[in-house]
Amino acid sequence: MASKSFNAFAMAQAQFDKVAELLGLDPATRDMLRNPMREYHFSLPVRMDDGSFRVFRGYRVQHNDARGPGKGGIRFHPQETVDTVRALSMWMTWKCAVVNIPLGGSKGGVVCDPHHLSMREQENLCRAWVRAVARDVGPVLDVPAPDVMTSSQHMLWMLDEFERIHGGKYPGFITGKPVGMGGSLGRTEATGYGVVFTIREALKELNLRAQDTLASVQGFGNVAQYAIELYRQLGGTVVCVSCWDQEAQEAVSFRNQKGIELDQLRKITDRFGGIDRKKAASLGLEVLPGDVWLEQEVDILIPAALENSITADNVNTISRRVKLIAEGANGPTTPDADHVLKERGVFVIPDFLANAGGVTCSYLEQVQSNMNYFWEKDEVLSKLDVMMTSAFLDVLKVSRNRKLPMRDSAYVIAVERVARACHDRGWV
Ligand code: NAD
Repeated sequence: MASKSFNAFAMAQAQFDKVAELLGLDPATRDMLRNPMREYHFSLPVRMDDGSFRVFRGYRVQHNDARGPGKGGIRFHPQETVDTVRALSMWMTWKCAVVNIPLGGSKGGVVCDPHHLSMREQENLCRAWVRAVARDVGPVLDVPAPDVMTSSQHMLWMLDEFERIHGGKYPGFITGKPVGMGGSLGRTEATGYGVVFTIREALKELNLRAQDTLASVQGFGNVAQYAIELYRQLGGTVVCVSCWDQEAQEAVSFRNQKGIELDQLRKITDRFGGIDRKKAASLGLEVLPGDVWLEQEVDILIPAALENSITADNVNTISRRVKLIAEGANGPTTPDADHVLKERGVFVIPDFLANAGGVTCSYLEQVQSNMNYFWEKDEVLSKLDVMMTSAFLDVLKVSRNRKLPMRDSAYVIAVERVARACHDRGWV
């Protein structure tokens, strides 16, 4: 899939530069917004179960906090680089701005493969990460959350370490906490459901009914599973999903032309979103190469795994039937591939709008943590629906008025809001 030489940060900056030009931003504002305000790089010595020490590399990048405390997940990934974290922190700034929540953009990461770490080693790693940045993050500074290969358990260990260091209870320090320990109902579903709230609105714009559409999905983790769940509730059919096969060290696709059975597939999936190949085959699913998910005769593609999945090399393998791409993952489409999709008239819901349901629900979690009163799941999800729908319609309006693709329109709204906050504060 991804061409590993592609630099996610260069891509994020190129996207920003294009919008800065469109908006005619002054040089100081451009300089401010195309780079992170602050970044922390640290070594994390962790005691392993055999008594030895191993040192991991950790990062926290704070791109911009003009509109409120930084917000963004922490990823555990063996191929993590600081440039990936920088790009993701910038996208968080635009994401919070486009859904109009009072938060800025940050991101964190650790270069590690949790598949090869015991739970105790992962706990030690989480605590070490918090000790490294405990003075530079917090409820009014920068609020972490889960991301690829981190969970509510990791967040709770991090919260516990933060509270030990600061000597108090600070549930607003981190989001994605377990329900009952300051977490919000609906957070697990939020990103995937948010993707589908935007798909539902886009289908109206395209004059399509969900029940007449087919979709193919890259990934079968948190985002993908809940996107599939709600899309199926709307009447849609998912014919193909893919995942990373840890044992074979390659991506793999699973297809059923009549539609995959979500519950069946969930039962044979590990907690990292890896589907058991043999069990899938025994359930009658076709087991196919990793790229096959992209080449399906469907109306909707939902990339919900990693960045740089749709590139110049594979964009032409996308079927002419595809009318809509909803970017569940961050940065799944490279700019050259994006250009081809634009020429072909494919309606693309850009990542920082499509997958903003997670951060929007994190914001709702912070609100609930601060007032120490928690809403029912339906209330959370209906607030989420209202916020996501209104963000989608704002972007659609700019897209129509300025005759811009959805990605450029979302950028125009987000960058304008952040630039205005920087100007109004007198920063630039
Ligand atoms: P996850 O770890 O739960 O799942 C990731 C899935 O991607 C797994 O099924 C894994 O097997 C698959 N995968 C990994 N490499 C792959 C490859 N090369 N080919 C095909 N599949 C591959 O992660 P998630 O939380 O679902 O996040 C997925 C994406 O969505 C990431 O880009 C993340 O940054 C983004 N995102 C997540 C959230 C959230 O709330 N979880 C919010 C916003 C954005």
